Amino acid sequence: MTASAPPYELVIGLEVHVELATRSKMFCGCAARWFGAPPNTLTCPVCLGLPGALPVPNRRAIELSIQAGIALRCDTPPHTKFDRKNYMYPDLPKGYQISQFDLPLSVKGWLDVPGDGGGDKRVGIRRAHLEEDTARMVHGSEGGEQYSLLDFNRSGVPLLEIVSEPDLRSSAEALAYLERLREILVYAGVSEFRLEEGGGRFDTNVSIRFSEDGETRWPPQSEIKNLNSYRALEDAVPYEADRLWREWQAGGALRTRRGKITVGWSESRRATFLQRSKEEIEDYRYFPEPDLVALEPSVETVAALRAALPEMPADRRDRFARQYGLSAYDARILVADRAIADWYEAAVAAAPSRPKQVANWVTGELLRHLKERSVDLRDLTVRPSQLGTLVELVASGEISGKTAKDVLTRMWESGADPAEIVRARGLGQLSDEASLASAVDAVLAENPKAVADYVAGNQRALGALVGKVQSKLGGRANPAVVNRMLLEKVA
Ligand code: ADP
Ligand code: MG
Ligand code: ZN
Repeated sequence: MTASAPPYELVIGLEVHVELATRSKMFCGCAARWFGAPPNTLTCPVCLGLPGALPVPNRRAIELSIQAGIALRCDTPPHTKFDRKNYMYPDLPKGYQISQFDLPLSVKGWLDVPGDGGGDKRVGIRRAHLEEDTARMVHGSEGGEQYSLLDFNRSGVPLLEIVSEPDLRSSAEALAYLERLREILVYAGVSEFRLEEGGGRFDTNVSIRFSEDGETRWPPQSEIKNLNSYRALEDAVPYEADRLWREWQAGGALRTRRGKITVGWSESRRATFLQRSKEEIEDYRYFPEPDLVALEPSVETVAALRAALPEMPADRRDRFARQYGLSAYDARILVADRAIADWYEAAVAAAPSRPKQVANWVTGELLRHLKERSVDLRDLTVRPSQLGTLVELVASGEISGKTAKDVLTRMWESGADPAEIVRARGLGQLSDEASLASAVDAVLAENPKAVADYVAGNQRALGALVGKVQSKLGGRANPAVVNRMLLEKVA
């Protein structure tokens, strides 16, 4: 981070590729979850690109792609198709990738992300198209010899490419965009967005805009290919922007450049390196995939897919704040995980007038329990309605907040109902004066000095007396009632 603002405006557009959450690959029945599988065990003639093998499109992948588009407020054109994108590379056994060229599944959407200016910023989504992932290359060396190995497990995994407009103005905005995109795709069940398992990568387009001699200059962008972590983006973007600026000032090729270049990012050298300049950028000779028919999602299909989408996270956060009176912070924590948000709402259903208290228990005790015990929410013994009941027991004064925590500890262990635990263990709070009177009287008799201190104006002495009543009754006394009784008797 530089302290002073750079002398140019940064312009960023992202092409995000994510693997879809399907069981099988895009055009064959091989398993799509390749991460961790022994190399070349998830293959068949189709995804190995053997001659004569024919693709059969994965319906689920198409549905998920359409849903992703809808969630990103895109239009779903009535007529789309697959195309062949031709290039030669060892990770592409057919010599072409099946992708979508001029008629993608989704066009013209948008996404609101927290912008640098404070408020939300609307980022345009140019298009989202469906394609297949390539094989994985593993490079190494042995005895001075370099080698490359190919693992075809990833070959043919459904891949969605989401192309933004160049609306982002900083790495922070680009990261916020990725974060919001991830959230939406995960929420919609479209992708698990497992970057750490190689399930996604982004081509990051960077250009700089500035004025010189009274004119606006906006030389062509660099496309940083295949970044695979937020961290890499955070490092590569400012590096490339600065490099473009320095090149411009040094009178370099950027001044005469006619089109974009593609660069790679070297993690070890912490620098970009040139891959292809405009002149060398391939002509992919796209043409319609002759082995597949055109794809024409019906209005009914699109409507059904739209109806099947869950409420999106930003909408849900707004609703949580509105409907339950939660802080933006609580809404964010709860909504961050769809299953937690569902669990919370089920708990509120059992304590409808206490949404705030339920939120406190969920964001506090529940999340801590899940984290500390590495428990999956699905394996939890406690049902949401039981937490709702527990909250009601506290609200009605039946048990204290402190007792409730003990009860919850037992609930985690046994899955028993809170009321049942309170009854079986005699944990109910003592609120009626008759059951508190003898302890209150005894404490007053045993502590004349504290009583005198209080009468002399020492407020703290009263608290001490309440504490002594509590210790006589094992902490079960209702403190408000004890307080009131003490005041009445001392006065
Ligand atoms: P294509 O690759 O189809 O020729 P573009 O290069 O215009 O299309 O766009 C590809 C990606 O580059 C998009 O995500 C777009 O937002 C981004 N992009 C286009 N122009 C710029 C620019 N001047 N600066 C930064 N990003 C850009
Ligand atoms: Mg691309
Ligand atoms: Zn296969």
